[in-house]
Amino acid sequence: MNVLVINCGSSSLKYQLINMSDESVLAKGLVERIGIEGSVLKHEVPGMEKVIIEKDMPDHKVALSLVIDTLVDEKHGAIKDMKEISAVGHRIVHGGEKFSASVVIDDEVIKAIEDCIELAPLHNPANLMGINACKELMPGTPMVGVFDTAFHQTMPKSSYIYPLPYELYEKYGIRKYGFHGTSHRYVSQKAADFLGKKLEDLKIITCHLGNGASLAAIDGGKSIDTSMGFTPLEGLVMGTRCGDIDPAIVTFIMEKENLDIAGVNNLLNKKSGVLGISGVSSDFRDIENAAEGNERAQLALDVFNKRVKKYIGAYAAEMGGVDVIVFTAGLGENSASNREEICKGLEFMGVKVDPEKNNIRGKDAIVSTDDSKVKVLVIPTNEELMIAKDTQELLK
Ligand code: AMP
Repeated sequence: MNVLVINCGSSSLKYQLINMSDESVLAKGLVERIGIEGSVLKHEVPGMEKVIIEKDMPDHKVALSLVIDTLVDEKHGAIKDMKEISAVGHRIVHGGEKFSASVVIDDEVIKAIEDCIELAPLHNPANLMGINACKELMPGTPMVGVFDTAFHQTMPKSSYIYPLPYELYEKYGIRKYGFHGTSHRYVSQKAADFLGKKLEDLKIITCHLGNGASLAAIDGGKSIDTSMGFTPLEGLVMGTRCGDIDPAIVTFIMEKENLDIAGVNNLLNKKSGVLGISGVSSDFRDIENAAEGNERAQLALDVFNKRVKKYIGAYAAEMGGVDVIVFTAGLGENSASNREEICKGLEFMGVKVDPEKNNIRGKDAIVSTDDSKVKVLVIPTNEELMIAKDTQELLK
């Protein structure tokens, strides 16, 4: 069974075609600048040269049509006929309280995703464009929706209710939802498998540290708390997002800097985080390179690492212990120095990182010492594979 995994942004479309018999990637690629001048498709088939096609793509339907043509292309393709795509798995950002697991997409599900637009105005409409493009171009091919929020629907009310007037939750659905759920679910399961243990028996803290970053406390396979909230702005310090701040700062800077709602949103989402502190970049590689001799770059890393450490402590307390800490995503998978810095000082709770073992990047590994009570792991995330697996499972 070949599953086409699709992840649509407002002006982008990422895809992977996965052969589920051996979980191999047959082709993958990215369309950028959909609806903007200079749209381009970058397509890769393992073992073959990368193909770049520049073509006007006014909407997601045209983009998907080019993706399908390229997938079946005699020269650059990976399959002979579109019929070799058995199903499509869509990444969907927000499922609100309606979806606690992946689902086969039908008209009712589409309506429910539309109902969640208010909660994710930038993301859900783009996801729906992808679904509609598939409906038109691949009629009859079954589709599955996999939600970023679904995994965290197991959180108890005491984790997701904000200390605001309760009516705001009832009226507008203001509560913690959490994101990156597909990644937290994937790496926690993989960590248990890697250790040869049952997920149900483990207390795991998963650290998804990329441009967007979040932690999850996973007790017996269930997310019981996570650092992102009503939106992906809460929690950790991120590339350009501030994470947790005193909410009074928002109105204060609006007044002082004469900012309207769009202006303050832009400041908190696009100009803050490690970019805001360092003034160097939102990319951790640039900041690490600049850190020696640049006080603010070093400070950005220190603030980032300290906040991850604080959340690890909080989640260990919340679960009454921790057996495994998992690092994943761009920074978590690749930066030995960040992992070391985050875990430094946590020896009191049984966390001991082995500098030699930790000197790896981008592969499954235990990076704690043999006598570390808490196992510290690096597990590269693979959200596409998780989406493809859910799709296969639901269509069995
Ligand atoms: P992601 O959002 O998961 O793609 O992660 C992107 C972030 O990971 C960027 O800030 C990158 O700078 C960071 N990253 C990727 N590779 C490395 C590396 N080798 N060392 C440090 N940071 C890295």
